[in-house]
Amino acid sequence: MDFGLSAEQEAFRQEVRAFATARLAPHYRADDLAGSLRPSLAGELGAMGLTGLRAPERFGGQDADAVTTGLVAEEVSRADFNACYLVLNSALVTDILLAGATEEQLAGWLPPIASGEHVPALCLTEPGHGSDAAHLQLRAEPDGDGWRLFGEKTSISLGMYAHVGAVFARTGGEGARGVSAFMVDLSDPDPDLARSPLDDHGSRAIGRASLYFDGVRVGRDQLVGGEGEGFVSVMRGFDYSRAVIGLMCLGIASAALDDAFAYAREREAFGQPIGRFQGLAFPLVECATQLRAARHLCYEALALKDAGEDPAVPANMAKWWAPKLAADIVHQSLLTFGHAAWSTDNPQGQRLRDVIGLEIGDGTAQIAKLVVARHLLGRAYAP
Ligand SMILES: Cc1cc2nc3c(=O)[nH]c(=O)nc-3n(C[C@H](O)[C@H](O)[C@H](O)COP(=O)(O)OP(=O)(O)OC[C@H]3O[C@@H](n4cnc5c(N)ncnc54)[C@H](O)[C@@H]3O)c2cc1C
Repeated sequence: MDFGLSAEQEAFRQEVRAFATARLAPHYRADDLAGSLRPSLAGELGAMGLTGLRAPERFGGQDADAVTTGLVAEEVSRADFNACYLVLNSALVTDILLAGATEEQLAGWLPPIASGEHVPALCLTEPGHGSDAAHLQLRAEPDGDGWRLFGEKTSISLGMYAHVGAVFARTGGEGARGVSAFMVDLSDPDPDLARSPLDDHGSRAIGRASLYFDGVRVGRDQLVGGEGEGFVSVMRGFDYSRAVIGLMCLGIASAALDDAFAYAREREAFGQPIGRFQGLAFPLVECATQLRAARHLCYEALALKDAGEDPAVPANMAKWWAPKLAADIVHQSLLTFGHAAWSTDNPQGQRLRDVIGLEIGDGTAQIAKLVVARHLLGRAYAP
């Protein structure tokens, strides 16, 4: 299938690359060392239109297609993998809202997300339920014309910084059909809501957090879509976002590999550049080959999404393969530098710590393979 880029998409890619190289890359390591989100980052991304990619223009967004969203993920993560979480979260939450929110709700929630004023979080995982999120337990108990939320979310990216959260809660009986989505204002100090940070191996600049709901009040105007429609809407969003995540991982892998090829030309051992040793060059060539193939898979999924077709099979193939491949490529690239990469001055170690997180985040390889098996074998074989 043809998913060649239009002139407009190619121009936008170049624009984003220039921005990311100049404005994001210089902060990649420093933000990791600081272990906190740079306060200006969301606004800078917003000014470039990168937190409003999926939002319609009437709400301050770009109305970007899925392929363009993938291009941005690739380019941003080449420079600063962690800044890309803001792009990803904004796109994911925007898609959830577009699937279920009313025009009035969209007018309230989307413009500040698009501008970067509000950082959104996606609050699905709980201490007892990750892969089996359909069985989540956070309760929405009826309270007048609204609800009160009781329970805990954990592993929430940007959880310490988010101003709004798409929170999935049980309003009905067991299973997916009992889950509803609420937009919760996290910016107001609320005595019924507490957060605590997790101490992670990677992506320390954006971090993850646990959120504790002890009777947080939500009104009917915060319900997204109908009661019991929350789980379906998040799963629909996950269909193509898994390919965007694939490209996010391949973006950082391509940066790692570019550095490795450059070093292989410069560094000498036994009186010649190490790139002349096929034992060193061929693994890098294998990395470049697989990276190229995986990019095609991701863009195939995104092009299918844009064509109104079901991207689930290639998107889930991308989700199990691309993050693992990216981790392998970064690892191989790190080894190319020998002792030099064992210092934190060299970015390969941070890249490795960061990219591994997305082998788990947004669903593990096993769950992605399960989805593919359902399509290829039939649901009876992959319940
Ligand atoms: C970097 C990062 C960012 C994240 N960001 C967010 C976020 O913003 N919002 C959010 O809600 N969550 C987030 N998560 C949580 C993430 O979505 C979950 O960790 C993930 O869905 C897996 O759930 P779990 O950790 O509970 O693992 P479990 O479900 O407990 O699984 C443990 C292991 O068992 C395997 N397993 C489980 N079921 C099966 C099965 N049926 N067949 C085969 N193997 C199986 C899994 O693959 C895994 O290897 C993030 C996680 C990470 C690491």
